[in-house]
Amino acid sequence: MFRIALPFVVLAVSGFAQQLPNADLLTQPPKVAAAAKCPAVDEWSTPSEKTCYRTTPRYDETMQYVRRLAHAAPKQIRLEVFGKTGQGRDLVAMIVSRDGQFDPAALHKANRPVVFVQNAIHAGEMDGKDATLALIRDMVVNKKLAGLLDRIVLVNIPIYNADGHEWFGPYNRINQNGPEQMGWRTNARQLNLNRDYLKADAPETVAWLAYWNKWLPDFFVDDHVTDGADYQADVTYYLDADRVTSPATADWADKSFIPEFERRVSASGHVVSPYIDFAGQTPDTGIPNGQSTPRFSTGYVHLQNRPAFLIEMHMLKDYATRVTGNYEALKAILEIVHRDADKLIAMNRAADQATIAAGREHRTVFPIRLEPTGESVPMEFKGYRWTVEKSDLSGATWISYHQDQPITMTIQRQVGLKPTITATIPAAYIVPVEWTPLIRVLEAHGLAMRRTTQPWTGEVETYRCETPQWAQQPFESRHTASWPAREGPQSFVARESGNVAPSQGCRAVREKMTFPAGSVIVPMDQRAAKVAIHWLEPMAPDSAMQWGLLDSIFEQKEYGEGYVLERLARKMLEADPKLKEEFDQKVASDPQFAGNRFARLNWFYQRSPWWDPRIGLYPVGKLSSLTGVPVK
Ligand SMILES: [Zn+2]
Repeated sequence: MFRIALPFVVLAVSGFAQQLPNADLLTQPPKVAAAAKCPAVDEWSTPSEKTCYRTTPRYDETMQYVRRLAHAAPKQIRLEVFGKTGQGRDLVAMIVSRDGQFDPAALHKANRPVVFVQNAIHAGEMDGKDATLALIRDMVVNKKLAGLLDRIVLVNIPIYNADGHEWFGPYNRINQNGPEQMGWRTNARQLNLNRDYLKADAPETVAWLAYWNKWLPDFFVDDHVTDGADYQADVTYYLDADRVTSPATADWADKSFIPEFERRVSASGHVVSPYIDFAGQTPDTGIPNGQSTPRFSTGYVHLQNRPAFLIEMHMLKDYATRVTGNYEALKAILEIVHRDADKLIAMNRAADQATIAAGREHRTVFPIRLEPTGESVPMEFKGYRWTVEKSDLSGATWISYHQDQPITMTIQRQVGLKPTITATIPAAYIVPVEWTPLIRVLEAHGLAMRRTTQPWTGEVETYRCETPQWAQQPFESRHTASWPAREGPQSFVARESGNVAPSQGCRAVREKMTFPAGSVIVPMDQRAAKVAIHWLEPMAPDSAMQWGLLDSIFEQKEYGEGYVLERLARKMLEADPKLKEEFDQKVASDPQFAGNRFARLNWFYQRSPWWDPRIGLYPVGKLSSLTGVPVK
């Protein structure tokens, strides 16, 4: 078996294991599948099948098998390199098509649905990679599943996080039962690609976005393995469809796709369940619901008006069960997409048209933050009896699941979300030319944009934001900014407005602003407009503002010397006796203010013409029309 040189980190990890005094205890060989689950081996067995799912192949061995498949069926498989990882590995996609038609535009025109399956975004979770190799083999070599390609074209990324995949070792997934060794969760710079979809920091994400735009698939699948509780299901899933802006697609997902998916996967002998994550420690606390934000693949794809399907294989099942379960899940998805192809394609087009129409109206209110309605539905939960006992180690309680005692019980699963923060969609956003970090991301998402040809001054809608709180701990290499609901002293901007709810952060204002030549206009009458809205609306959960790309607008850059402000304040009080009343009242009512000599003098600075009015002013404008704006 050919393997490329191990990265140094892997060597370091295995060295560490050898030095441990209790290495035996820490070596937990994965529970191997019952021999009955071992497939008969032939020359076309996948590398994982050849070891009865004890192992998963490294990057090079995977690519060798991928090339063998392509070589065996050159008219049905095309390999495309759609980018490079940070460490320079090829990002490879396999296009699988019945008749050698690999051109996205021709396929869309012929109403042939494109299903985009990605694997190994978390490269310790390898089930999808090994399942899709078998699935494609069964389509093009032994042709057991050739019928699935009658209309569907499959775009499969066998290994998305290729650098993480080669960060290979036995200790990468503490909760997971096999394979023997596996890759790592993040890319080589420790960025989680499944938090990077909107901000696009990683080279892998930038490549992925360009490739997504090239294909604009009809259905998206992201293959993972769970963490979390123990229960009977080996296949869990979540179908992300935008109920607010694509209600027809969401209805199809709930009423048609999901029941059929569950029926088919169950019929194959696997246990299937909606994604399980408990509100509290124990199953009886039920399953919560929340907004799927565009940092995630599935949250991002639904902003692109396409249904997104998350597969989460259960971590504690043996690898044979998981790979074959993942295979059955993918097969079921392809069968249903095949059955509903016309409907799906029509719904996707309608969702695109609805987004464009909303952009034309430009006064449509769009929800950017959602919270659960509290509504829930009963769900049959197939779990294991559990016990909770006190832990003298943690000082709290710990839960044990008893796999020998399966139970079936009804628990509540939350459904339904309602908007908590909305934004009015403009005709276009205007981003000043100097805000290149924002523009770079808009470009990465392939949004249609125009540039101004001359400086332009005019009234726009924008935001004045109170100073956010920054996270002390880094998250994805950034210190995120947010406005948690809080009492007590607020920034100048919030105090000035007088009517900002503490958690509101930014309030809409109209301002006369100047935008230099070359500033970017992002019209909203385009199909991916929701991506721009989520990036540019400062209160959106994954906006540029929240990721900390606009921190400098909150910094005070000039300071008055105390002896200068003392003189200034006295002159101001002399000129305006009402100011004295206001100041005295502030001192009397706000002890923190009263005790802070800098704040007391700054109070006058803030009311003088020397104060910088741009502090907290969001630099991006919202235009109600392009009339009069000089654009190319
Ligand atoms: Zn994952």
